[in-house]
Amino acid sequence: MVLGGAVHAALAEHHRQLQAREERDAALVPERVLAEVEAEWQRREGEGTVAYPPDESRDELLGVARRLVTAYLATEPPTGIVAVEERVTVPLVNSRGAFLEKPLVAVADLVYGEPGELTVRELKTSARAFSQGEVDLAPQATCYAHATHQRHGVWPRVEYCVLTKTKTPRAQLVTTERTASHAGRLGDLVESVDRAVTAGVFYPIESPLNCSGCPFRSECRAWRPSGSPTAPRPELHQVLHEAAHQNGVARC
Ligand code: SF4
Repeated sequence: MVLGGAVHAALAEHHRQLQAREERDAALVPERVLAEVEAEWQRREGEGTVAYPPDESRDELLGVARRLVTAYLATEPPTGIVAVEERVTVPLVNSRGAFLEKPLVAVADLVYGEPGELTVRELKTSARAFSQGEVDLAPQATCYAHATHQRHGVWPRVEYCVLTKTKTPRAQLVTTERTASHAGRLGDLVESVDRAVTAGVFYPIESPLNCSGCPFRSECRAWRPSGSPTAPRPELHQVLHEAAHQNGVARC
């Protein structure tokens, strides 16, 4: 998480410099981009203890982060930068055209392009390349497309830029598209999940990706369905899930 955060902070600095160069001919300062890796790392260390895996040290991982940023800087720079890490709050709409009570909050890493032809770029650091199929199915891409459409009035292309943490890092671009019908389906999905949350329906969604670093694993193993005599209070399980997800340690 710290590595991903440091890479994101550095690339946000890079994109802001590109935007400033376009708007007022400001100079690019690549050293400031790389310095941002360590600055963000230190900022996060100041917020709490950072645990490193037994086979990886702080210096090694800092080196990986710097190499990922360098790999990105070597790619074709985006032009026509419209927004960098812009936080937007927009309404969600279901497939029947009704607005949901709860809005969507989205922070796109980068929005760029020409008026009427925008691209949302989502930066990922990953141990492996992404497949076209997973990007085409990603609800996250629908969230970004919907948020951009609401904010800028255009259905954008969504572009995943995957920085792979391989020995020689590389930047992989995978693009996908969304329409109003995808956004309606997203609204239906959120509406259904919201109904389940309100009704206290919680259950584990276990996977190596979700659970391997989850600090609530033992509580989760003790979970029983609501109504069973040994079930924990529903609100307890809700709290566990929400804490795990807010801390970014689970994505189920
Ligand atoms: S709460 Fe943690 S252990 Fe349980 S399913 Fe979610 S991620 Fe896995």
